[in-house]
Amino acid sequence: MPAQKFSAKAHTRTDYNYSNFHKSLLHENNSEDYALRHLYSLENTKVLLEKWGWSADQIKAGIDYATIDVYKNFVYLHITNKVTKRGELIKIRGISRFISKADFVSVLVERCWSKADPYKLQPGDNWDELIARGNTGDFYEVKLYQYEITCTCHAYSGIEKAFAQDPVATKHLMLNPVAQGQIPDKHIFAAWKYIGAETLRQYEYCWLERKETAMKEQAWQFNPEPERESEFADW
Ligand SMILES: [Zn+2]
Repeated sequence: MPAQKFSAKAHTRTDYNYSNFHKSLLHENNSEDYALRHLYSLENTKVLLEKWGWSADQIKAGIDYATIDVYKNFVYLHITNKVTKRGELIKIRGISRFISKADFVSVLVERCWSKADPYKLQPGDNWDELIARGNTGDFYEVKLYQYEITCTCHAYSGIEKAFAQDPVATKHLMLNPVAQGQIPDKHIFAAWKYIGAETLRQYEYCWLERKETAMKEQAWQFNPEPERESEFADW
């Protein structure tokens, strides 16, 4: 059984009593634990610890002992400061604190942004499509809508479902100064970089420009005679 497949230990300690909201995020098939996997993951927690001044060694020593309990409005993180190793009690850096979901959301956005590589994109068949090349040679369709981008990769659909499971995280995604509600995914942010946007507002502006340019080109392709140009002035 792949029970521990998604760093789930921190989410499923048998000696800890999790909140009801946390329990509601746990599913029989743990590949459906989207919010726990994508938002409240050990990877995101490590980045938060780093931001709070933990050294790489302190994180390494403690992260296996983390308990991550997700409440409706915030997250509780606990790492013990005493552990037994080879029969010996040793002291490590510990923590016990509540964390805003906004912090987890912004770490997810930052991590997707830093992994986004516009050079892995190529034009699709239409002006509102880009193709993203995966590491294993597979391809994903990145579709540019006026107010959002979607992607056909697994991470995108998982992250989308993660936010669907967690309304407060979704609220923080809307308030996030970069994402402004856009589901974060490395291919989507690659598309932003590709067309020159760093926030959703900028993306919307770039999208309109891209559309206008494409429409003009299309009009010219179908009606290249200059005397007919006035018919398309509204475009
Ligand atoms: Zn993607």
